[in-house]
Amino acid sequence: MLKFMSLGSGSSGNAYLLYTDTDCIMIDCGVGIRLLKKHLHNYGLQLSMIRNLLVTHDHADHIKAVGALSVDHNIPVYATKEVHDGITRNWCVKRKVGAEMVRYINKGETIQVGEFQVTPFAVPHDSNDCVGYFVECEGVKFTLVTDCGHITDEIRQYVRRANYLVIEANHEPEKLAAGPYPQYLKDRISSPSGHLSNAECAETIATEATPELKYVWLCHLSDENNHPELARKTIETILRSHGLIAGKDFGMEVLKRKTPSEVYELTL
Ligand SMILES: [Zn+2]
Ligand SMILES: [Zn+2]
Repeated sequence: MLKFMSLGSGSSGNAYLLYTDTDCIMIDCGVGIRLLKKHLHNYGLQLSMIRNLLVTHDHADHIKAVGALSVDHNIPVYATKEVHDGITRNWCVKRKVGAEMVRYINKGETIQVGEFQVTPFAVPHDSNDCVGYFVECEGVKFTLVTDCGHITDEIRQYVRRANYLVIEANHEPEKLAAGPYPQYLKDRISSPSGHLSNAECAETIATEATPELKYVWLCHLSDENNHPELARKTIETILRSHGLIAGKDFGMEVLKRKTPSEVYELTL
């Protein structure tokens, strides 16, 4: 049985797990090792279950503990060449990924990672490079899109194919505009290479959801410029205007910034 859980989602650190009884991948590792260990322990799980690590992009909240996890547990790290170079240069990554654990991936190319078929795809964001992941396992199709400045036709294709979708709902534009961030940061976040707003997230789900879509997790919510209830309400309202009811047509949950999610069983 394929399972999914979030161990943290947002600017304080991201880490997502996809696992079966016999294999496990982690997507991003921006949560400290000690905290990861503690979270997993509470679920009767352990870091040693992770066989491979996939990275979306080289911002600290996604890579902080990538090197430490890889070195301590001999875990190969899959990322594009640009992202690997970014990890090597990033001072936030204190321990570096050993050369023998570096695995290069190319956008649009499907590879087999243990029991998982993985296709990275381009996501516009102001990092050295950024990918989303389309993962197939046990016939289940899982799509993850985070840190996304705007939705492209290619991203839409992968959202459309998903049975299970993790998608960014970063900010509410009015809250961002009225909030405490300096103007350059507000401009950065709302730019086409920044982050996805609640409405952009909702519109993507509304236009690309198929009857095959079973569950949506809203990820990478901003602490200052969004709120879980605001995101949920805004997105539910937009979905309803498209004739879709979250909780009925498909499940929908907001992933918490610093607390692990429950373990979800991904069935067809
Ligand atoms: Zn991020
Ligand atoms: Zn980022």
